[in-house]
Amino acid sequence: MNKENKIKLVCVGSVALDTIATPKEKHNDVLGGSASFASAAASFFTNTGMVGTVGTDFPEEYLNLLKHFNINLNGFKKAEGKTFRWSGIYEENMNERHTLSTDLNVFADFSPELPSAYRKSPFLFLANIGPELQLKVLDQMEDLAFCGADTMDLWIDSARDKLEEVISKINLLIVNDAEVKKLTGNSNLIKASKEIIKKGPEYIIVKKGEHGSMLVSNDKIYILPAYPVENVIDPTGAGDAFAGGLLGNLAYKKNITAEHIFSAMGAATIMSSYAIQSFGLNSLQQTNIKAINDRLTHLKDITSLS
Ligand code: AMP
Repeated sequence: MNKENKIKLVCVGSVALDTIATPKEKHNDVLGGSASFASAAASFFTNTGMVGTVGTDFPEEYLNLLKHFNINLNGFKKAEGKTFRWSGIYEENMNERHTLSTDLNVFADFSPELPSAYRKSPFLFLANIGPELQLKVLDQMEDLAFCGADTMDLWIDSARDKLEEVISKINLLIVNDAEVKKLTGNSNLIKASKEIIKKGPEYIIVKKGEHGSMLVSNDKIYILPAYPVENVIDPTGAGDAFAGGLLGNLAYKKNITAEHIFSAMGAATIMSSYAIQSFGLNSLQQTNIKAINDRLTHLKDITSLS
């Protein structure tokens, strides 16, 4: 059996060159994108295949960095044109962010063709990207056991119908508090989450930045604080690293329950704590499974996570 046959999790999303300004620093063309952060985080836990595209301007060193994570790149394509670019600026509190520009570039015409081994993957994470693309990937999956998805305000505003179709087909929606409110028009997070559950997914995770995350199902609610990080350098990618860590952790479970998901939120929280300690994937690149487990033990010591 070749390595590709063992793909347990497929992540689809953006692979980006980000320009990011925090109150202290500004960096251009940092390796980012929802699929990059999610796949890198997931790769610590399971055999992960990444679906995405970049342009001919994508630096070789970034390709090597993705390879460093042992991500299967058979679903990753280089196309004629420019790489997806996103630019954002953070407020002083580092929790609020404003998008300055989004250039889809090669993603505007991307039509993913999944390698056959990816189609048989039991787990799928639809990271933030246009819902039409998410649907194209979803349609190609042949033996899906569990699908999580993320989105953002841009798609809620510009592609709501397609997004609702995605939401109707997934098991878990992972979004931030502002997105839940925007999706439903309801500012009570529990009520809003339950409204979304009626549209399809059994579970919603609401990410609340430094205030942690909340899992809502029809009959259960779990809350987990964030891992305490005092030196936040760049929060970009925290949500994607969270989701990748979560799905990667779940990928060996059968018959997923709310308890399994809450337990996996521990590892997810740890992966997001690494993402925010550097620009791009640098902190994730420097960690290892022992350091991740040490942080998880610490998180369990200071919370009710068991
Ligand atoms: P997060 O901080 O987890 O929300 O993820 C930030 C990452 O999402 C950045 O690296 C961006 O490149 C990427 N991103 C920003 N806007 C979009 C978009 N409209 N579609 C896909 N990816 C995006």
